[in-house]
Amino acid sequence: MQERLDVIAFAPHPDDAEAACGGLLAKLAGFGYRVAICDLTRGELATNGTVAERRAEAAAASRALRLASRLNLELPDGGIRAHAEEQLGRVVALLRASQPRVIIGPHEAARHPDHLETHGLVRQAQFWCGVARRFPDLPPVQRPLLLRALDYHGMTPSFVVDISEQLDAKLQALRCYRSQFERGADSAPTLLNDPAYLERIVTNARTYGQLIGRRAGEPYAIDSAVMLDDPIAVLAPENSEVRA
Ligand SMILES: [Zn+2]
Repeated sequence: MQERLDVIAFAPHPDDAEAACGGLLAKLAGFGYRVAICDLTRGELATNGTVAERRAEAAAASRALRLASRLNLELPDGGIRAHAEEQLGRVVALLRASQPRVIIGPHEAARHPDHLETHGLVRQAQFWCGVARRFPDLPPVQRPLLLRALDYHGMTPSFVVDISEQLDAKLQALRCYRSQFERGADSAPTLLNDPAYLERIVTNARTYGQLIGRRAGEPYAIDSAVMLDDPIAVLAPENSEVRA
């Protein structure tokens, strides 16, 4: 039976969630929330690395982020479809069984078709999990908040999370994927195993951190406006430089 979770990050391939939102996941796990990554595929189309290697790497990365759970829906790599009824039903079933308060998915500006389809699939599941007569096998649940991880898309985020204390854990989790990010003697050169890739993760974290006056940050977009009861307490706390 599926356990209750507070947060689920959905990723097309093992290692995507670590790159997009590893800092926030480590932070929330540190706060005591039950945090999971759900990979939609096993990454079997990747240029380097086998499914078995990637599974072991994902388990190690999950420990680095202190995840409560690591799930894999084993959808076909390259075959994620936002409008495939069977795939949507499986994501809806997971949301209804685990009842997360927050889910995280790729942004709609994603370049890779699997990431784009994952965005659509997660967005649809976030809506339909609350509708009783759609997939009526399980009862509907309160819809979770959907965060879209902005990653490297260069857009204005709705908010930036301070990950100054979690950047090391994020990088440690990414380095667990040696098959993807290490260029060995028998691996084919890719964008991922170019040393510039992990450097870019750090550069992005520093850039978004600078926006909030911190050493490192992760950017997110949400659909709704943010409700503030006391803007002074949140946006201009004492002993903090007002930046906006
Ligand atoms: Zn991917």
